[in-house]
Amino acid sequence: MAELVSPAGTLPHIPDDLTLAQFALDAEHVRKPVRESGSTWIIDDQSGRKIGLEELQARTYGLANALSIRYNIQEDDVVLIYSPNHVDYLVAVWAAHRLGAAMSGANPLYTVDELVYQINAVQAAVIFTHPDSLEVALSSAHVAGLSADRVILFDVEGTDTEQKVTVQGLVSQGLASAQNFTERKLAPGEGRTKVAFLNFSSGTTGRPKASAHSQDHEYNFYVVYQAVAIPHYAPIANIIQLATHHRVGEDYDGQRFKPGGVCCGVLPLYHIYGLVVSSHYMFFCGMAVVLTPKFNFLEFLESIVRHRMTNLVLVPPQIVMLCKHPAVKDYDLSHVQYITSGAAPLSREVMEQLVQIFPNAAIGQSYGTTESCTVITTWAVDKKRDLSGSAGQLLPGIIGRVEKPDGTLADFDEPGELVVKTQSLALGYANDEKATKETFVNGWLRTGDEVKMNRMGEIVVLDRLKEMLKVRGFQVAPAELEGCILDHPDVNDTCVVGIEDDYSGELPLAFVVLRPTVAKRVEENPRAADDIKASIMKHVADNKVSYKKLAGGVELVDVIPKNPSGKLLRRVLRAKARDMQTKPKAKL
Ligand code: AMP
Repeated sequence: MAELVSPAGTLPHIPDDLTLAQFALDAEHVRKPVRESGSTWIIDDQSGRKIGLEELQARTYGLANALSIRYNIQEDDVVLIYSPNHVDYLVAVWAAHRLGAAMSGANPLYTVDELVYQINAVQAAVIFTHPDSLEVALSSAHVAGLSADRVILFDVEGTDTEQKVTVQGLVSQGLASAQNFTERKLAPGEGRTKVAFLNFSSGTTGRPKASAHSQDHEYNFYVVYQAVAIPHYAPIANIIQLATHHRVGEDYDGQRFKPGGVCCGVLPLYHIYGLVVSSHYMFFCGMAVVLTPKFNFLEFLESIVRHRMTNLVLVPPQIVMLCKHPAVKDYDLSHVQYITSGAAPLSREVMEQLVQIFPNAAIGQSYGTTESCTVITTWAVDKKRDLSGSAGQLLPGIIGRVEKPDGTLADFDEPGELVVKTQSLALGYANDEKATKETFVNGWLRTGDEVKMNRMGEIVVLDRLKEMLKVRGFQVAPAELEGCILDHPDVNDTCVVGIEDDYSGELPLAFVVLRPTVAKRVEENPRAADDIKASIMKHVADNKVSYKKLAGGVELVDVIPKNPSGKLLRRVLRAKARDMQTKPKAKL
């Protein structure tokens, strides 16, 4: 029966009395391996500026002090960061933690609607932002009733910061002030419940509101994203699980992570994968992280070489570019020793191509979720690379079970939903008891992913049972797009599904039923259909962040299939979409 305690090792003690800031910056006794003093932690990709521990500690102190004095940020307040990666991003996170506050990261391309939703949902006290995102940050703050002086700018060379509150300004004020904040310390055990992060996810399986698919119903599409409440203990546990799996600090031949190593920091810090794996975990291993604000493939190649990166932590579209882009052969990338892909599926074929380009690197996949505060599986250390299509082996301490739809346990190598028990588990969805109960069951996490697991605790991800799509590694909730499409005046009903795409993984495709009068118009003049489809696509593109646009297209249908109780039969339309993809389009 497929229930298994990870065979990858036993866990050492995980501190439950430290905030993540204390664990990252102060807890030298737990950090492994001990790094040389003065070594680099963060490198600014653009300027090449190198930042070490002492500077990070000082900036964090100064910022925390100023946040306390100027804004009275305190216990359980939420600091929202709406910014691409920046060298002070984590300083803002750690400053919040030092004050007992939590951080919620938002995608810096969000529209005003999307950002206002998040500000309100977490009741943000201040917003950190980047000059490129400032306009939307200010408009959103205004709509949400936050004053403009609560929007704080990360410093970017060449930006006019007159009349603006900047992080540098606050750090200087905080360091110069005679007043000193009192650091929030945790009692033993408190790290298990004290919230560090509120990351947004659409990860739950059952979603009653998503079935209210008609204009006759009031439709609150925002309910599709919830704030995952992640306590300090969870990222600390995940870092220790990863380090134990990789035997970090031991004199283990072929170490994947070691001092002197340099990891790319292209994954966004507002997503749990970037926040835990390609930043905090690397610091724990004594490595440096090159923080890049915006991913541009050719610049990324330059950056890998310029900083002699050793470790690449990426999502599938970036791996596909490494395999397919003609410019790759112009670069000597032989210093890269480790590449992992996570956040979405990656085909075996692409992995094999990657080995051709990086013949000496350890290569494999990692799998995780926001709700498990990141990694659940990564490939076993006794394999240099794993090209089998597996997403890897359960990390130490994790118990995995595979459940069939009737709730019974599947056999090894038999499909079913992956349910896991991990020390890194989130507390649940903030203010949503019902969704929490569906996904977090007696200490187990229902992942909503269909997998097969073998006796070594290695899983292959077969399908997603939950409704979420993954576009370029980003979550897209079909119900959110359906809510948006239903706002279009020509639309009567809709259902969004994902279609496969080599680069993005999936793309949203909308099946749409037109209003009767509009449908009649199309019947009389079939050419009108193209204009209507374009208008629906534009409507979504105008209202949503770019990766949510209907890049899979719009298909007009007469009816959206539903069961007798009105629940949308999404699987039927997914099958139809797959069928459309395999059949060549008839030539006109
Ligand atoms: P997120 O919470 O945004 O990290 O999304 C978690 C979801 O991403 C998982 O439940 C999976 O559906 C998907 N995912 C993450 N890693 C992988 C992987 N290596 N292979 C397939 N799907 C993955």
